[in-house]
Parts: sequence; C-alpha cells; structure tokens
Amino acid sequence: MADNIFRKILDGEIPSRDVYEDDDTYAFLDVNPLARGHTLVIPKEDAETLEDLDDGGAALFDTVRRLAPRVADAVGAPAYNIGLNNGEEAGQEVPHVHVHIVPRFDDDGGHPIHAIQPSPPSFDDDEMDGIQDAIADETRSL
Ligand code: AMP
Repeated sequence: MADNIFRKILDGEIPSRDVYEDDDTYAFLDVNPLARGHTLVIPKEDAETLEDLDDGGAALFDTVRRLAPRVADAVGAPAYNIGLNNGEEAGQEVPHVHVHIVPRFDDDGGHPIHAIQPSPPSFDDDEMDGIQDAIADETRSL
C-alpha cells in the first residue's frame, strides 16, 4: 500500500469532506480551495499518475464528467475548470493521481488553463512539423 495523504483519506485515517463515492473513485473538498466547491476526485486504486492506473483513468474521468456539472450547480457556478497535475514537473504535490474540479464565477479574477505557462515558447513551421510527426508517430499504435 502507498503511504501518502490521499491513501490515508481513503483508509479513513484522516478526515475529509467527502461529496461522492463509488466502487472505484472518491471525491472530497480540497482543503485549500481555489474557489467555492473546489473538489478533488481520486481513484481508490494506488496510482501516482494517470499512466499507473489499470484502466488508464477511464473510471476516474467517468466520475469527473458526471460530477463536475453537479458540483458547479451546487455552488451556483456557471462554469468550471478541470485540471490534473500529472507528475512532479507539472506541479503534482500529492503522489496519488487526482483531478481538480474548480468552479468558476463571473469576474472571479481567475484565469483560463493557459495561465499554467506565463511565457509560452514559440515554434516556427518546421518545428511544428517535427512536433506533429513525433506525436503522430507515438499515437499510431493506439
Ligand atoms: P496537486 O498540486 O495537484 O498535487 O494538488 C494537491 C491538492 O491537494 C492541493 O490543492 C491541496 O490543497 C490538496 N490537499 C492536500 N491535503 C489535503 C487534505 N488533507 N484534504 C483535502 N485536500 C488536500
């Protein structure tokens, strides 16, 4: 068994404000909310990143897609962001995969997902061709 704070929450060793649970997933309020209703959805299976999940995240994202609009409705939010910091370099702090559902409100002072990189790189056409080919090569076997 893994030893991290979300495993402890799943095992009932530390408390959480749960809002949903099924056979494979669990959802609870983020303790440092970015907005009213900021919710985390986690798999019950131990997995540090999405790639470590046996089903590749199918159950996790099924819960997210069903839960997110209900979370938003519950707090009167007209919109929401969904985010997953997948890996340490992406900002993941807790080594148990989790999806953030962040309700968004009119004039809430927040930003779109593009704000994760304030100084985006620029690529010329040749570089974009190379990037496209590299990714298409990787995905050909899907
Ligand atoms: P991340 O940076 O994507 O790993 O996000 C981890 C999130 O977990 C942060 O938003 C924290 O506020 C949240 N968090 C950490 N500990 C707890 C806890 N005990 N209960 C609820 N949320 C937590």
